[in-house]
Amino acid sequence: MTAHIIDGKTIGAQLRGKIAGEVSRLKSAHGLTPGIAVVLVGADPASEVYVRTKSKAVAEAGMRAIDRKLPATANEAELLTLVAELNKDPGVHGILVQLPLPKQIDSQKVIAAIDPAKDVDGFHPINVGRLASGLPGLVPCTPLGCVILAKSVHPSLAGLEAVVIGRSNIVGKPVAQLLLAENATVTIAHSKTRDLPALCARADVVVAAIGRPEMVRRDWIKPGATVIDVGINRVPGEGGKSKIVGDVAFAEALEVAGAVTPVPGGVGPMTIACLLLNTLRAACAQNGLPAPAI
Ligand code: NAP
Repeated sequence: MTAHIIDGKTIGAQLRGKIAGEVSRLKSAHGLTPGIAVVLVGADPASEVYVRTKSKAVAEAGMRAIDRKLPATANEAELLTLVAELNKDPGVHGILVQLPLPKQIDSQKVIAAIDPAKDVDGFHPINVGRLASGLPGLVPCTPLGCVILAKSVHPSLAGLEAVVIGRSNIVGKPVAQLLLAENATVTIAHSKTRDLPALCARADVVVAAIGRPEMVRRDWIKPGATVIDVGINRVPGEGGKSKIVGDVAFAEALEVAGAVTPVPGGVGPMTIACLLLNTLRAACAQNGLPAPAI
């Protein structure tokens, strides 16, 4: 058996295309251009690459990118002042503060200072609570991307057994909440879970968000299961170079799963597409317009 490879690049590009169409409609019908502010503190090279990629995708979708940079030495008060300014700016519909922040700044305090209506990362406690309560709100981008990919295989996830490996606030917990909202039967596993391979082997849908290279092996996967690999791990590759692998042994998963996401090219491209989707939804909500039909 060779699993279907879930092509996140193509699914993400299709989603971005639909978003660009909605943005153009919003501009002509309502004179509204969704705007997202991306705040970068310091010059961490990986964060700078992320921010550049995000800004490019925002521009391609026809949205306005507002890039704000603070030096690595910025203090918490300076960042909170900037967030307050962006909260008030009617041209800014989404605010994303790139994490991690320098150690002198309390990330939770900054996240809590963002207007929940503009919290396109979905990390504000109000949005976390809304997701847990089954209320509408902005949901984290990577988990949303995982569920869209799972639904590309199973349009209905109702009644399916899902195992999420990882319980972080940014991936594991929200992806579990979203799967539950789709009526899957969800188990969340973590580093203290007993007999993880056997637990995982029961799942119709596995979401691996662990940060351990290729930990999920062939015998962890039920034949025909759908495997969503969130992991991004840099490991030594050929010729002294490094390469990126996921949390799932991809070649092994291909032999037994029904469908599997590759790394790279699976969940990664969905994260940015979902950030654009959240910004579009936030812009509509803030202007009293109905949610876009995407
Ligand atoms: P994290 O905060 O480090 O959480 C990892 C989770 O995995 C924890 O809940 C931990 O359990 C669990 N875990 C660790 N070792 C385990 C083991 N041996 N057995 C079972 N569970 C284990 O990581 P994260 O931020 O959620 O990210 C997870 C991965 O996704 C990383 O590779 C990250 O780079 C990637 N990621 C990708 C995207 C994307 O856009 N594609 C976005 C975000 C993250 P405990 O809670 O018990 O410690």
